[in-house]
Amino acid sequence: MITALKAQMEKGTSFGAPCALENELAKVVIDRVPCVEMVRFCSSGTEACLSVLRLMRAYTKREKILKFVGCYHGHADSFLVAAGSGVLTLGLPDCPGVPESTAAATLTATYNDLDSVKKIFEANKGEIAGVILEPVVGNSGFIQPTQEFLEGLRQITKDEGALLCFDEVMTGFRVHKNCAQGHFNVMPDLTTMGKVIGGGMPVGAYGGRKDIMQMVAPAGPMYQAGTLSGNPLAMIAGLKTLEILDRPGSYEYMDKITTRLINGIVEAGKEAGHAITGANIRGMFGFFFMDGEVKCFEDAKNSDTEKFGRFHRAMLERGVYLAPSQFEAGFTSLAHTEEDIDATIAAAKEAFKVI
Ligand code: PMP
Repeated sequence: MITALKAQMEKGTSFGAPCALENELAKVVIDRVPCVEMVRFCSSGTEACLSVLRLMRAYTKREKILKFVGCYHGHADSFLVAAGSGVLTLGLPDCPGVPESTAAATLTATYNDLDSVKKIFEANKGEIAGVILEPVVGNSGFIQPTQEFLEGLRQITKDEGALLCFDEVMTGFRVHKNCAQGHFNVMPDLTTMGKVIGGGMPVGAYGGRKDIMQMVAPAGPMYQAGTLSGNPLAMIAGLKTLEILDRPGSYEYMDKITTRLINGIVEAGKEAGHAITGANIRGMFGFFFMDGEVKCFEDAKNSDTEKFGRFHRAMLERGVYLAPSQFEAGFTSLAHTEEDIDATIAAAKEAFKVI
């Protein structure tokens, strides 16, 4: 890894010219992400999402954007409307500093509810540039889409001349080798990706259909650039991460340990008399302190967040650091061992008794 990096640095890169490592990572991303024919690297998920937003507007010559309540797409002005993640955890419904006109161009629908999407398209005929969503939600807790919902979105956007973007910042290479779009076999027009392709280094990327991506400068007129985009450290960390993920058995292993983890947590919770529901898709998981199915943020809101707070603390006291909010998904990685899973379930059993 270091040798490759040194060789790259000796060769040097010039502004605007993609470096060899960037090309190499781009090839892997194009190969693995079904909708991506061209890709642009940037430095964070926020940057990827705000760039794709500009691109959707540039391509369609429309201004409005449709997102889902409780989904998070970084902290660009347009996305801080009914956002998930920290915005939700801290209870900040409208973010000061976001111009009203910007917020007004962001429309919000209910996750897993195609009727809410249809109504918004009817009320904004010919004005919506695109729909962006987390194809599996991680920022209101872990919420799975129905197959029908994703397929329906694909059809509606096609019929209405709008673009469909899967924000795979969380799901990318995590829920499936070919991301959520591969898992559900639904092809968006565009995709955003984040930290996972940097192996922990600062990175983001957006990509998709060639005819759309060719709008981006220097191929086209939509400007977007960044000094640190495609920096060699992030590129090589990403290449290594994706190489490791591609080794035989990687996803099977993540599926095995994560399924065992979430089943263990849910069973232990129920045994201790708590209302709890949870699930996973390969390395992404989550649970809510409530009975029944969670299909959207409105459902997630009904969960017992105070109990989650007590559980989080009790787990922390037992050496397990869960995401510090009911409204965040959990992730496993190949670094987690079977023993880690056993220890986590054992800690959960104790924690459920004291909360
Ligand atoms: N989109 C999604 C789905 C995310 O989960 C996040 C961050 N967790 C972002 C975008 C923003 O990414 P970043 O924090 O790298 O700016």
